[in-house]
Amino acid sequence: MIPFNKPCMIGPEMEAMKDAMQQNELSGNGPFGDKCTSWLENKLDCEKAILTPSCTAALEMTALLTEVGEGDEVIMPSYTFVSTANAFALRGASIRFVDVSPETMNINPEKIAEAVTERTKVIVVVHYAGVSCDMDSIMEIAAEHGLWVIEDAAQGLMSKYKRKSLGTIGHMGTFSFHETKNYTCGEGGALIINDRSLVDRAEILQEKGTDRSQFMKGMVDKYTWRDLGSSYLLSELNAAYLSVQLEHADVINQDRLRAWEQYEEGLQSLVESGKIAIPTIPKNCEHNAHMFYIKTKDDQERSNLMLYLKENEVMAVPHYVPLCSSQAGKKFGEFVGEDRYTTTESERILRLPLYYGIKKEDVEHGIKSIHQFYKA
Ligand SMILES: *Cc1c(COP(=O)(O)O)cnc(C)c1O
Repeated sequence: MIPFNKPCMIGPEMEAMKDAMQQNELSGNGPFGDKCTSWLENKLDCEKAILTPSCTAALEMTALLTEVGEGDEVIMPSYTFVSTANAFALRGASIRFVDVSPETMNINPEKIAEAVTERTKVIVVVHYAGVSCDMDSIMEIAAEHGLWVIEDAAQGLMSKYKRKSLGTIGHMGTFSFHETKNYTCGEGGALIINDRSLVDRAEILQEKGTDRSQFMKGMVDKYTWRDLGSSYLLSELNAAYLSVQLEHADVINQDRLRAWEQYEEGLQSLVESGKIAIPTIPKNCEHNAHMFYIKTKDDQERSNLMLYLKENEVMAVPHYVPLCSSQAGKKFGEFVGEDRYTTTESERILRLPLYYGIKKEDVEHGIKSIHQFYKA
């Protein structure tokens, strides 16, 4: 069976973790953590990067930093992972789901503009499949109404919009290093802060609400409880693993792009004959090959194809069930405007196997199997 995903491993991760175990410093923000945050700050060109236990945790930090609460509204796509919404629902905010554009499955800026009210405080965008949202339009709407913009760039490390790294365009951005993402350490994440005024509070928040990070830098002589906080640190063991992945980011990126382009080329004739659709990469966007999906005619055809591929030892999987249709989604939010694409398009998506090191012949086998399905 060709699996849908294999957690990325380059080789030297074990050695790096051994080093971490010998350095007598295992908790967060140690030498390996610093290595990772420096890499992120340099590579992405951002004000500040903070390692977190997950992207979920980083999103929770953005909700705390924007100080949203009861009575506030947060606009986001319904077609996303639960953490995007949970982070803000946890603060008591109400979620306003809006429609996506079918070409990218990213939030439609026009729908954001229509959903803004007096109570709106934050826009959360999700760069689906590592392909950027229309950030110019989104930042313009946000500036007009004085709103925060958070980029859920969980899937978007190494992707760009107009030469700017995803995660560095809004006020804050978040990344995931979960094993299903391009760069991993099992579980992990990062918060990117692009607004200088948020940095000090973010450091306090990460350290259980204390000024421990200033204490560690020798800026205060004892540390105390200063503000709300939690434990949002990534252990040195995870950071050591991650540091190797980041050092090899270009190699990983190239390898994934190779597989992505092989799918694109191999399936082109089915796109031309109108049997399937494949992702669109808008002009000005550089993507990171996080995901290759196809769109079938409908839900039924997707189930049939998924089964057929499974029989042919290719593991292909659907993706998000729109949050607006879920029990919690209805409790904590509501869809604003017409659901023209979110539900119907989400039912057509089938993701194909794609991971670092996937064999050329395995990609080829997947392509051939899809062609066979449509021939029959
Ligand atoms: C993976 C993912 C998350 C959650 O990441 P974790 O690191 O597992 O918390 C959040 N949002 C999106 C869009 C994701 O793809």
